[in-house]
Amino acid sequence: MTEQAIDKVKLANWIRGLVAHEIDRAKKEIMAEIKAAKTPRPRKPRADGFEDVWKLLQRGGRDEAEKAYIKAVQNGATKEQLMASIQAHHKFEWNGRSKDKIPHLSTFLNRGYYKTNVTLKPVKIAPVVPTCKCGRILNSGERQSGICLACEYKAKLENERTGQ
Ligand SMILES: [Zn+2]
Repeated sequence: MTEQAIDKVKLANWIRGLVAHEIDRAKKEIMAEIKAAKTPRPRKPRADGFEDVWKLLQRGGRDEAEKAYIKAVQNGATKEQLMASIQAHHKFEWNGRSKDKIPHLSTFLNRGYYKTNVTLKPVKIAPVVPTCKCGRILNSGERQSGICLACEYKAKLENERTGQ
């Protein structure tokens, strides 16, 4: 081999080594990236007090709920107020409801449901239906006398009969 040829071989080997080294480095970088992508990022610390509120109403997305919580607190709500309201809603408003009819925490906060004092909501009472002693429902004209026309007529006939 000429000296020139030897130099060429040396150069080729050097380049080969360099390329191999670069490939190896790139592989390592890729592997590190894959590993980083797989490793869950550490959870952001939750807004102060959010966990306690979330425990009481674990409905909907947690992150969304937290955003709404931060907003509600910025608007003057306190953790204690929110917790008390959720508990009251569970006790009154949502009592007996199927779970899917209970709002997501984010909705509860964003729509300001916590501002409603549910304990003061009037209890639904079935309207009193005015009825006659015979059981017939009185119409508006009969309500004053308290008896239905049929009973009134019967009574009138009875009076007439006994009066005679
Ligand atoms: Zn009657």
